[in-house]
Amino acid sequence: MDKIARVDTLKCVGCGECTYVCPVGVLEVVDTKCRVNEGCIGCGACVDICNWRAITLVDEKDQKKD
Ligand code: SF4
Ligand code: SF4
Repeated sequence: MDKIARVDTLKCVGCGECTYVCPVGVLEVVDTKCRVNEGCIGCGACVDICNWRAITLVDEKDQKKD
């Protein structure tokens, strides 16, 4: 099962740090919250960079249910 990033919007402060490390450029800060756009490859770079631990990797099918 492929993993994709999910942002916990309660934890995200919109700092934008994660948007600089994503190799495929799918992270975007909208209204002070990070959003994962289509095309995440589940590399985990954003998970490691986020000081607020707002991003986790989840199964792609679980994400689509939300
Ligand atoms: S690095 Fe973390 S807190 Fe900063 S915008 Fe990304 S998800 Fe939000
Ligand atoms: S897991 Fe990798 S590809 Fe997906 S949003 Fe984070 S940095 Fe980008």
